[in-house]
Amino acid sequence: MKVYQVDLELKSPTLITYYSLTSNLSNSVDVINGGTIRGALLNKARSEGIEVDKEVREPKIRFHPAYPRSGDLQTFPAHPFMYKCKVCKRITDLSSLLARYNWNVEEALRDKFKCEEGHMYTLNSIGGSLIYYSEDRTIREFKHKYVSVASVAKAPSTGASERGLLYNYVCIAPGSIFSSIAVDPEDGERMNSLSLGAKPFSLYIGRGGSRGLGHAEVKVTEITHSFIEKRTKKLEHAEKRENILWLARSGVFGISGTDIIPEPSLFHGKVIKYWSTGTVFASGFSLLNGWPKARMPCINRGSLFLTKTIGYDGVEDYLEAELMGCGQFSTIGLNIMEVLDA
Ligand SMILES: [Zn+2]
Repeated sequence: MKVYQVDLELKSPTLITYYSLTSNLSNSVDVINGGTIRGALLNKARSEGIEVDKEVREPKIRFHPAYPRSGDLQTFPAHPFMYKCKVCKRITDLSSLLARYNWNVEEALRDKFKCEEGHMYTLNSIGGSLIYYSEDRTIREFKHKYVSVASVAKAPSTGASERGLLYNYVCIAPGSIFSSIAVDPEDGERMNSLSLGAKPFSLYIGRGGSRGLGHAEVKVTEITHSFIEKRTKKLEHAEKRENILWLARSGVFGISGTDIIPEPSLFHGKVIKYWSTGTVFASGFSLLNGWPKARMPCINRGSLFLTKTIGYDGVEDYLEAELMGCGQFSTIGLNIMEVLDA
């Protein structure tokens, strides 16, 4: 198995799998999902005449979602037990308190109506939003810089613009930096076949490449040894606990009969409880034929899953679940989880 760091620096306004506010106004999402990175890299390789059919038909590489960075500081999703005070804006993480109460939320939070500064009844959960630890270890919320881009389309029948063909996009501003990892279970063979090289290269991600949107400079660096060493230390600590707490870093998706639920079989152990930050829709385009894929409801990033440790045989199993994703949809960038040490 090989692990790669994927860094993307935006060189033009970028619109990532937007959601439409009205038919002529679109907003970019704030994290680049793994499926988007996969699609962009495979399309680039293909356009250079590189054979990528094996990876398209039988996907193996896991592309994790790329989260923005604030300078050198990496953002990550807030879970439902991160609260922000409306008055002093201070953010408090109550997960260790809950762990001490054995995840009996009602009992643990019974007297928790004050922020650390003493403001009463001012706490709001910020689950699902982007946060980072500042240098002094306080939790800060992350906000992207956005730019508005207008685009005029031509009517195919006349070749000229007409009423209703002016589009407005709210894009992530150039200069934004995102980081992610990619995992190749075939020891680098699949990644090498994409001929990405060690130097930075140009890539178009998201929508509107023909209109100059989504130009990024990308660098892929192998980090297998240092990554596994660092992560193993954290997991050794979490493993000693009775239950394991997982944080969703991407949308989480599972099927049980006809229901779409946080499927317990995503984990070898059993899900005891989960706390969701909401539902989102995941969709994309097939690399085989360019057709849109079905939209699937997912439990949003930042959701927490408490599972039994049964079924995992030590740190290596946890590491594999983190790197390879939990469940069959991890090759399209879903079901990417991380063990939290709470
Ligand atoms: Zn306060």
